[in-house]
Amino acid sequence: MRKHSMALLALILAGPLAAQEQTFTRADTLRGSNGPARAWWDATFYDLHVAVSPPDSSIAGWAAITYRVLEPAAEMQIDLQMPLVIDSIVQSGVPLTYRRDGNAFFVTLAEPQHAGETKTVTVHYRGQPVAAVRPPWDGGFIWRADSAGLPWVATANEGLGASVWWPNKDYLADEPDSQRVAITVPDRMTNVSNGRLRSMQRNMDGTTTWEWFVVNPINNYNITVNAGSYAHWSETFEGEAGPLTLDFWPLEVNLDRARSQWTQARTTLRCFEHWFGPYPWYEDGFKLIETPHLGMEHQSAVAYGNGYENGYRGTDLSGTGLGLEWDFIVVHETAHEWFGNNISVKDHADMWVHESFANYSENLYTECLTGDREKGAQYVIGTRTRVSNDAPIVGPYGVNGTGSGDMYYKGGNVLHTLRQLVDDDAKWREMLRGMNREFRHQTVTGAQVEAYLARESGLTLDAFFEQYLRTTTIPVLEYRLEGARLSYRWADVVSGFDMPVRVTLAPGTQTLIRPTTQWQTVQANLTAADPFALDPDFYAILRNADAPEK
Ligand SMILES: [Zn+2]
Repeated sequence: MRKHSMALLALILAGPLAAQEQTFTRADTLRGSNGPARAWWDATFYDLHVAVSPPDSSIAGWAAITYRVLEPAAEMQIDLQMPLVIDSIVQSGVPLTYRRDGNAFFVTLAEPQHAGETKTVTVHYRGQPVAAVRPPWDGGFIWRADSAGLPWVATANEGLGASVWWPNKDYLADEPDSQRVAITVPDRMTNVSNGRLRSMQRNMDGTTTWEWFVVNPINNYNITVNAGSYAHWSETFEGEAGPLTLDFWPLEVNLDRARSQWTQARTTLRCFEHWFGPYPWYEDGFKLIETPHLGMEHQSAVAYGNGYENGYRGTDLSGTGLGLEWDFIVVHETAHEWFGNNISVKDHADMWVHESFANYSENLYTECLTGDREKGAQYVIGTRTRVSNDAPIVGPYGVNGTGSGDMYYKGGNVLHTLRQLVDDDAKWREMLRGMNREFRHQTVTGAQVEAYLARESGLTLDAFFEQYLRTTTIPVLEYRLEGARLSYRWADVVSGFDMPVRVTLAPGTQTLIRPTTQWQTVQANLTAADPFALDPDFYAILRNADAPEK
């Protein structure tokens, strides 16, 4: 999800220059970079066991971290955020010593760590984790009651990090190959986490342990607790890769509304399998889970809090009305199963790979639903009024920092523009499907994605991406009309920017021109009724060079 989070928060707290003036702390670097106490080990399996206690908003449990030794080392960084405390860290039955540096623990390993070995270290911990004030944007544990007054607990921690409630290497580039999520809650509550339910153990103390298991690589921030008074039904979806189980977990009180609204999961999966290829997690299934926060892309366990109505909390982000034709959270968060979960970034700086494509998916879904390519275009073009150009889309690397919230609406429009440049929908679709094959179940850099799109499109896109991802300036197509002579050029662009665009040079037709930063002149046949116009599918600004500045 993470709509507006960092950018908007920065704006509120420190004014519009905040994004450029960010300073970073030692803690940001420990968190956001592959430091020496991280780089030597590769997490392969997290075995997570957490008891959740709503009466005092506390948790207690342990995580066994299994890892492969890449090179010998004696110190290991494990992240767990304050105010949680560690009781012990153990390897091979031996308690280890450790020191705390803010939200990072540095553990001194007692036994030799030989390259190629697989080892396990177990962390026992407890406390009252950070409670989210405004989830999903700030994140943490969410302690609520449903409308019947029954406890309803969830987690949402994208950006903030999984270490807000469980110990792990809180670094996006290292995903485990699989994970157990065993959550103990009071007997009356049902807990739904990621993957498949393996067991349900009634304990002797009034609690039940729900053991879920994910058999695929997973972003740590996707691991989730959702505990409450849930109803449940299952369906099967005949997908591209065979039968896919769909499991739906609304609050009991909302079962009827869910049965109606969540039919959209099927049309969403159908559309996205068409455009992006098979759903990436057939083994783990697909789930929609009602949550006390708006939504989050939790892998194979999509969090839904959109109130069972179409649009984004009942509103249309595009201003065209088209956003009210479908449920924003079902569509946007499901899109993240491909872009964000199947293809995950190594650094938050490249979060546009998650959010720009998820935003773009809303456009494609509009097209699927209406059967009208133009309607999809109208939707994405309509969202341009939400672009703020406050900071570049790509953020600072190595500090767990993100770029502008423009990674949503601007990012979606950049991809829509790229579709025009490819100018072959079959090829464009194959690029999107191929991207999900090429980077399947991997973490990637934004640079890899840019290189993939350039290679597969056959276009030179260096200046295109530089302009749209790393500057805050929208290209200006400047023109001048002298009789029938039309001159045009790109202005406000990076060096080498030469994106072709479709324009109107004569009534009723569009022509592809190839502006550069140098003036070019053509003969045009324009009238007051058919003025020079830029095809709005291309995200650029048209400006008459002779018109007075506003
Ligand atoms: Zn999102």
